[in-house]
Amino acid sequence: MTASTERAPTQVVNAMSIDVEDYYHAHALESFYTRDGWPALERRVRRNTAVILDLLDEHETRATFFTLGSVAIEAPDLVREIVQRGHELASHGLEHYRASEQTPAAFLADVTTAKRALEDAAGVEVHGYRAASFSIGFRNWWAFDALEEAGYSYSSSLSAGHRDGAGLDVGSGPFRPGSGRLVEYPITTGRFFGRHVPTGGGFFRLLPRSFFHHSLRRLNARGKPAIFYLHPWEFDPDQPRAAVGVAARFRHHVNIPGVPRKFCDILKAFRWAPMVEAFGEPADVKPGRRQDAAPLADAAE
Ligand SMILES: [Zn+2]
Repeated sequence: MTASTERAPTQVVNAMSIDVEDYYHAHALESFYTRDGWPALERRVRRNTAVILDLLDEHETRATFFTLGSVAIEAPDLVREIVQRGHELASHGLEHYRASEQTPAAFLADVTTAKRALEDAAGVEVHGYRAASFSIGFRNWWAFDALEEAGYSYSSSLSAGHRDGAGLDVGSGPFRPGSGRLVEYPITTGRFFGRHVPTGGGFFRLLPRSFFHHSLRRLNARGKPAIFYLHPWEFDPDQPRAAVGVAARFRHHVNIPGVPRKFCDILKAFRWAPMVEAFGEPADVKPGRRQDAAPLADAAE
């Protein structure tokens, strides 16, 4: 990684990431799909991930797949296919617990087991981690040291828009949050009516494509790469409908039929690569602590 940070805007390579989990893992639906009922539910992650793999092939684009350890255990063939098709395999934890709802010991065990499950399934080393729902923030900064202890070299787990990260103006630039070598790459955010909006997920489905294209263009014009993310279930208009409240249902299902088209548009409009290639070897990354995580590359600055 020769850092793409000083390249001309059109040459900036952004990081494309997919959080590989099933529809029932989504936190918006957790009141309906309780954990004890998960084993009996229909699995749709294989077919939905296959849709993404085909679209990426169509656009000759490779990505980072932050995958649940439980998916690697249940569907090792899927994890192998992700790697065989040229993508980076990374970890999304074991069973989609938020880091913010785990003790330090439980979190360490979780990320260690997930890393091993992914590596056993795919036969490659896993370097990266993304917390479920970007659930690392001020209150559980210790998680970065646990990730380093578990053998990860980078994380992409902070979002300035997440409630635990509220007020944490980390922008989208990398920094070292702990005492060691681990590098954190916060998810890129744009500003929408004064609020941090992550580039991807539900906001990508809800807001017009022009908002994201504009945010990414501005960031790339400053020579900075963005990180974008989506989930396999966001490509699945036929997934079961959970009997949850109107707000949660809206958040989970809004504009799913339009996702493949919007995804192709953003693949075409920008250059993309897996995390490790978009950011390269982060030799020049500055240390940072929770109190001085300075804004580095906010898309809307
Ligand atoms: Zn997730």
